[in-house]
Parts: sequence; C-alpha cells; structure tokens
Amino acid sequence: MKVSLILAAGGSSSRFRESLPPRTPSNKLFMPLGGKPLFLHSLPVFHQHPEIAETLIAVPQNLRSQVKRLLTQARFENVKVVNGGASRAESVMRALRKSNPRNEWVMVHDAARPFVSSGSLQKLLQAAPASDGVILAKKVVPTLKQVDASGKISATVDRSQIFEAETPQLVRRKVLEKAYRENPQALQATDEASLLESVKATVRVVAHESWNPKVTHFQDFELAEAFLNSGAVSRTGLGKDTHRLVAGRKLMLGGLHVPFEKGCLGHSDGDALLHAIADALLGAAAMGDIGEWFSDRDPRFKNIASSKMLEQIAGAVKKQGWHVEHVDSVVILEKPKLGPLKKKMQEKIAALLKIKSDQVSIKAKTAEGLGPEGEGLSVTCEAIATLRKKS
Ligand code: MG
Repeated sequence: MKVSLILAAGGSSSRFRESLPPRTPSNKLFMPLGGKPLFLHSLPVFHQHPEIAETLIAVPQNLRSQVKRLLTQARFENVKVVNGGASRAESVMRALRKSNPRNEWVMVHDAARPFVSSGSLQKLLQAAPASDGVILAKKVVPTLKQVDASGKISATVDRSQIFEAETPQLVRRKVLEKAYRENPQALQATDEASLLESVKATVRVVAHESWNPKVTHFQDFELAEAFLNSGAVSRTGLGKDTHRLVAGRKLMLGGLHVPFEKGCLGHSDGDALLHAIADALLGAAAMGDIGEWFSDRDPRFKNIASSKMLEQIAGAVKKQGWHVEHVDSVVILEKPKLGPLKKKMQEKIAALLKIKSDQVSIKAKTAEGLGPEGEGLSVTCEAIATLRKKS
C-alpha cells in the first residue's frame, strides 16, 4: 500500500491568536512544544511507516519559506511544501494535485495534532483496504444535549453511536478526487470523511484511546506542553580538566585552534574545555568519565581530535534517552584573550552537541597572576551540563 501523506497546516490560527497572552509567536505552527515547532512533532511517527511514500504540507503562502527552513533544519528535506487555500478542504485539494497520482491512498493529518501514535497509525493502515476510507476517532464520553435557538433542551442525544472525528484520515485517492469533482460544497468540508460520505463511499471509524488533541487555543498548547513533560527527569553533571601549556603544541580550546605560542600537553589534542564538557555530560548521565571512554594509554587515541571524543560521548548519552538542555563553562587562562573567539566556540560546541548556540555558555577568566594558571603554566576548564529525559 502506497500512501501520500498530506499535513494540513493552511489555517490562519485565528482562534489560537485570539487566545494568546501578549508577546507570544502568532502562528501556532511555530510555537515551540518541547523545544520543537508544533508542526514537526508528528512527522517522525509517520516516517516510521514504510507505507508513507511521500509527504506534503499545505501552509499559508506567507509562511512557506519559514516552514521550508525549519524542515531543512530538522532534516525533513523530502517534505514538499505547497500553498494552502482559503479553507482546510481547499488546502488539501491543492496538496492532492501536487502529490504523486500513483499512490492510491491519501492520508490527511492536522499538523496541529502533535501526539498521533504509531500504534493508531498501524491500526488505520491495516483497516483501510476493507473500505473507501478510515478515520481515527474517539467514542464521545460526555452527555450531549440537543438545544433549540432559545437554549431549551429538546433532546438528550444517544451517545452510544457518536464518535468524535480526529486525524489521520486515510482515504482512497480515486474516491477523494471524485468527491472534490462532484460535490459542489467540497471546499467547505471540515474533514475528508465528510467528502467521502457526500459521494456515498464507505468510511469507517477506527476507535482509539490515546490522547490525540488538536491544539486550537493557547490553553491546549499549555496542556500539550505539560503532557510532553510529564514524568521528565532532569540531571546536572560537573566536569573539570587541567592541561599543562607547553611550547611546540597547538592550543586547541572549544574545538577551535587558538593562535598562541604554547599549546596543551596531552595524549589527545589536549582540548581541556571539550574534556570538561564531555565529563559534565557523562556525569549527568552517570556514565563514567572521559578516561574510561578514551584511555590515555590507548595508542588509538594518540593525538585524537577532542571534538571527535565529545561527539561520540554526546551520541552515547543521547542513546540513553538524554537530551542536552544546557552547558555552561568557565575557561581559566591567563593568555591569550579568548573574548573574540567565544561566539565561534559557542557555535562549534553547539554543533558538536547538536543543540542551539544559545544552549551553550562560555566564560573566560584569568587567574589574576595567581597559581599555575595565573603564571601561564596551565589552562583549567570547568563545565556544568543539564540533561533531560522522559522517564
Ligand atoms: Mg584532558
């Protein structure tokens, strides 16, 4: 089964904007949820399923370049960005026209539903072939009242047959195209199932129990953030490293070559700052220390670039489920002045840790002429790292 996935993100976020506290980003697509824009959350779940042959996202034209940039940054270069329309159904129609007609199924998902689960997706994919379409839905729990214009209750609705339609919705391409052609009100449809119903196609619900909310108001966003962080633990680790400064060695600090007459003595390239940061990461994750990972007796590590060591350690820490939230550091060095290099160092370290440069801090100090650092005999670096993991 080959599926064209369409993420519907064409809305103007008007309900969301009305509910915003002052000074928050105005389009909900870009609101950071767990540090990642809302619309990027569901993509990795879809991409776990080989049936998804291509992905398109329909967005308002004025947001197109920003969406493209964020997709590239998050390594979703294959997602096609198309201009949305005046309504959800029009956005989906435009994406449908740009999709590959050989994929006989089309799956539509609201980009504002970040928590779709892989299990629900699997259920939909399995159930689809028996119908023209299937949608993810939830049995309605509250008691429902039908009221007249004056607010007087005319009936209590039998909820046993009522389901709330969610997304994803997975439909046969031919039937969806037919509905767009034959239903004069197609562009007002609020979901794909209603389009299929309008041409008498068979659509079934796939009921599920997980939480798959559509972030509509700011309050939904706050709930989503709380849900994402529930049970998360955060840990802090400390690292410290000293290297002797000697003539005839390159001075490496923070992954950069610092022009100076001396450099750090060491088995590796002697980058004391990256060593301190690596130890801080290992400390927070309780995964030993840098000497256990890269022994200074192992000839394989002779003159190894410390940036390689840090990358490898950061990768191992991530494999255990940890995310690096923040790294702070101090470099104690009498000479040379590091001020002009600090920003570049910050960017280099952030790139090694695959985080943003505003999650890395470097502070440079002298030792006021006191002790081995003050006398220019050594450099000492201290670092502290905060890691976070969902338990
Ligand atoms: Mg060291």
